[in-house]
Amino acid sequence: MGVYAFVGIMHSHGVSQPVGGSGKLSESLARCVEHYGGEIRCNSEVRKVMVSDGRAAGVELSDGERILARDAVIGALPPHVISRFVEGLDPGVVQRAERASLAPFSLFVSHYDLRNKAQFHAGPDVGRATMLTMMSCDRLSDMLDDFDELRRGRVSKRRLVAGGDESIKDPTCVPAGKGMFHGMTFAPYTLAEGGAARWDEYKEEFGDLSLQAYRTFVKNLTPDNIIARTLCSPLDLERSSPNSMVKGDVHGVAPYFYQNFAHRPTPDLGRLSVPGLDNLYLVGPFMHPGGGVFGAGRGTAIKIFDDLGMDFERVTRNG
Ligand SMILES: Cc1cc2nc3c(=O)[nH]c(=O)nc-3n(C[C@H](O)[C@H](O)[C@H](O)COP(=O)(O)OP(=O)(O)OC[C@H]3O[C@@H](n4cnc5c(N)ncnc54)[C@H](O)[C@@H]3O)c2cc1C
Repeated sequence: MGVYAFVGIMHSHGVSQPVGGSGKLSESLARCVEHYGGEIRCNSEVRKVMVSDGRAAGVELSDGERILARDAVIGALPPHVISRFVEGLDPGVVQRAERASLAPFSLFVSHYDLRNKAQFHAGPDVGRATMLTMMSCDRLSDMLDDFDELRRGRVSKRRLVAGGDESIKDPTCVPAGKGMFHGMTFAPYTLAEGGAARWDEYKEEFGDLSLQAYRTFVKNLTPDNIIARTLCSPLDLERSSPNSMVKGDVHGVAPYFYQNFAHRPTPDLGRLSVPGLDNLYLVGPFMHPGGGVFGAGRGTAIKIFDDLGMDFERVTRNG
């Protein structure tokens, strides 16, 4: 799915990158919400969605505080955890939700702080790209072999890597004159030897293997140029967002064709709402169009506007 969606979106809309890093997008969205009178609560863990008379009535936080909903409850509730947060759902809906397929591989992320900006073997123009995908194989059959290894929890030496030095185009990302490299490789969540629990012990070794792969493309990922690195394993990803990235799946459920469009994440939940329960809407990368950051909440917003009798086009056009 990503192959079709990404290429089409990039060619028709281009790729945007917030100045200062992607966190700046979250910060500006927060300013927008507050500008229009909204309130954002941090460190407030939702324990459950309150249900009354077949409607989602609000949320209860882990400290017992209850927040009532005026118009709707919008939940980033992936299929595997929905029954943990909402009681009394149809058992068939829950069973099918919990059977949704997760991706058989996750991601391993490496962040490098560099003394000098990254230099690519392919020349300086390459570094100006916003998104680089670098293949260490040139035959489709080799790539399929690598993904089969991942499916079995094994780590292949050859790998598909992505990454770049955003500070080449946006120097505000780093201290003056310095550089950075962020790299991603695919990795199994459940390692064939030792399962997911082995990641904490294995992380540095896998980071070194990934570094070797990045060095095929980047000249100066060398000890003298590296100030520090931070590694994030599939298990760390799950820890960072335990309800969204179940088993390290960064899209909540796998983007297989049979789990797309109205069947994403399941045919029951693919209408952006929950059967048998009014007023609860679903949002997140596990809903169509999937992916993650492209178009994630738009479909849900349009549906809520329709249900509330509001004109989505007029509001979004006028800002
Ligand atoms: C390395 C990496 C690369 C990626 N690359 C891409 C890409 O190129 N393109 C793309 O489209 N997508 C990509 N993704 C996926 C994308 O980042 C995610 O799908 C997206 O961030 C999900 O956004 P979200 O807001 O739904 O969930 P999250 O960003 O996971 O945020 C969920 C938030 O909810 C909080 N939370 C969890 N439980 C509770 C609770 N009970 N109460 C209150 N708060 C709670 C969590 O702490 C977290 O802050 C990538 C992901 C990773 C990890």
